[in-house]
Amino acid sequence: MKETIFSKIIRREIPADIVYEDEAVLGFRDISPQAPVHILFVPKTAYATLNDVPATEAELLGKLMLAAADYARREGFADSGYRVLMNVNRDGGQTVFHVHLHLLAGRALHADFG
Ligand code: AMP
Repeated sequence: MKETIFSKIIRREIPADIVYEDEAVLGFRDISPQAPVHILFVPKTAYATLNDVPATEAELLGKLMLAAADYARREGFADSGYRVLMNVNRDGGQTVFHVHLHLLAGRALHADFG
């Protein structure tokens, strides 16, 4: 896959506001937040889109979700709630082609998936 800005963030070649890290996942603040809390959880192993993740990496996808839940618990908004979502390709609105999970919180998010 082509190199993206997220690989550079993972390698600490460009700055980011990193808020979460474990052996498989890095979490950092979105540069253009759509909610008071907007974190991107990125696997350190790069796949361009969800379509490119092989079945053997099911655990990696689980780790992304659990990293978001762990962060929500730690920051105290797990019970009030939050949203996780992944954009895939053009119609999904994906702009950075390194798989990532968005975590949005800090305001009431309406069920508008437009
Ligand atoms: P997506 O549209 O799902 O591909 O999401 C890509 C996200 O990456 C967007 O919400 C951007 O605001 C965010 N983004 C792009 N460049 C950076 C950066 N250097 N640091 C943090 N977030 C970024």
